[in-house]
Amino acid sequence: MKVLVINCGSSSLKYQLIDSDTEDVLAKGLCERIGIDGRLVYQKAGCDKEITEAPMPTHKEAIQMVLDALTNEKTGAIKSLDEVDAIGHRVVHGGEKFASSALVTDEMIKAVEECSELAPLHNPANLIGIRVCSELMPGVPQVGVFDTAFHQTMPPKAYLYGLPIKYYKDYKVRRYGFHGTSHSYVSKRAVEFLGLDPANSKVIVCHLGNGSSISAVVNGKCIDTTMGLTPLEGLVMGTRSGNIDPAIMEYVAKKENLDLQGIMNVLNKKSGLLGMSGGVSSDMRDLEAAAEGDNKDARNALDVLAYDVLKFVGGYVAAMNGVDAIVFTAGIGENDGKVRAAVVKNLGYLGVTLDKEANKKRGEEVVISTPDSKVKVAVIPTNEELAICRDTVALVKK
Ligand code: AMP
Repeated sequence: MKVLVINCGSSSLKYQLIDSDTEDVLAKGLCERIGIDGRLVYQKAGCDKEITEAPMPTHKEAIQMVLDALTNEKTGAIKSLDEVDAIGHRVVHGGEKFASSALVTDEMIKAVEECSELAPLHNPANLIGIRVCSELMPGVPQVGVFDTAFHQTMPPKAYLYGLPIKYYKDYKVRRYGFHGTSHSYVSKRAVEFLGLDPANSKVIVCHLGNGSSISAVVNGKCIDTTMGLTPLEGLVMGTRSGNIDPAIMEYVAKKENLDLQGIMNVLNKKSGLLGMSGGVSSDMRDLEAAAEGDNKDARNALDVLAYDVLKFVGGYVAAMNGVDAIVFTAGIGENDGKVRAAVVKNLGYLGVTLDKEANKKRGEEVVISTPDSKVKVAVIPTNEELAICRDTVALVKK
């Protein structure tokens, strides 16, 4: 089957066309600046990137351009749209309604709409993608794959906050967790790659990228994760604060004369590694360069990230009463041996020893613990698009 995977953001859209039989990517790219001006990046497998500037007032024009590029006589990856057997969409928030991926139906769309209050920036954009595809490719089955679904197996003790229970019962305020497609893919792959027993395995996945989250996975099921009602909770991230004392919000609001929206903007966009480093960068490579140049704020920001990861890993070892494997993924997790080494350095109490040579590798599946290490540590590149493609095929073939 040929599956078009779509990840619709508010002003951008990423896509991949995947052959599900071989799992090869036939073409991929993105549309940027939708509603502003418009830019299409298209790359057929084995070919150079093509960039086209063209007006994209709405997602409809953007998706139409993607479909035109995919079927272009000279550079297209397919001859006609009839070759697209199914479409898989990333959907950010499935609330408590979706514990797994779902076929797009009128009821499914209504349920996703009802979750939009929990992700007002993301779900409406995801729904636009679904609606535009129904219009442009009527009859092609579509599937929604939720960022939150994998974490729905968490028990109440992991998802309830210490707040009046009315907030959960009436407003659904609870921990949902995000990056679920990545945590699901990487934890499954870790069991295969490391030869663990799927029915008796304890895995910690550290998804460290611009946004970061960690999950604890027992026998393939998530029992806890660091992100919460929104992707703001947990680890310090590129521009997001992660966990803070909530009273800081009132204190700083008074000092800086900010309203709630202003404070949320600071916590989401001006904090994390960017804010801690005094504005150096949210990008690890820039921060590491600054830290080497003796920028103390950049050094502290890097130390806080590694320390956050270490504390959550320790917490999840306790929550699972042990661990078989700790896995790093996403931009930082896959590429940054320094962060991995800083975390593993303090795991001696678990009998973990780092293979320093293996830890130099980047962006590939590799075991980075020594053969005698009691807990396996590995790098597994995430592949959310492939996970979306697999779920789409599984539901469409049912
Ligand atoms: P992601 O959100 O998964 O795309 O990850 C983005 C993050 O990965 C950014 O902080 C990048 O600085 C970081 N990253 C990407 N490549 C490297 C690298 N070679 N070394 C260190 N960090 C990297």
